[in-house]
Amino acid sequence: MGMGYTLVCEKCGHSRNLFVGCGMMYGEVLREKTQEAKEGLHGEALKALFETYPNGCIDAMNNIYYCGECRAVECEPGLDFYKPIDPEKAPADEWFGPDMDQYELVEEHAHLCPKCRKPMKQVIRLTDEEPVVCPECGGIMRSRHRLMWD
Ligand SMILES: [Zn+2]
Ligand SMILES: [Zn+2]
Repeated sequence: MGMGYTLVCEKCGHSRNLFVGCGMMYGEVLREKTQEAKEGLHGEALKALFETYPNGCIDAMNNIYYCGECRAVECEPGLDFYKPIDPEKAPADEWFGPDMDQYELVEEHAHLCPKCRKPMKQVIRLTDEEPVVCPECGGIMRSRHRLMWD
């Protein structure tokens, strides 16, 4: 089950919809992202990890990332790479997603800003202490609606 947020700028009203977590189609998304990662579409580092650990897996759940440089807000899959604790383990059933208790983190995926290429930081919670700044006017963007999606 995922969660949807609408961020609205207090000053100019600029709004942004963000969907975090995953929906019912997680298996489908994971299969697609795994294929892309193996083809190198998400960087050489991830492609090399799949070559080293063919039975590894990635985290395809959506997270929110924020660029402190240019204020870009992106919602994209985490893509952290995990390998099975038991090296003999067969590749995960991609339809249902792997049981993450049986995996350990190998490498966190570096999220670079699509605009300025600076590293982006993950927004864990949308709180007032760490507000997202509006890319249009520099105002504070607050989360207005929360909705479940699946
Ligand atoms: Zn604004
Ligand atoms: Zn940026």
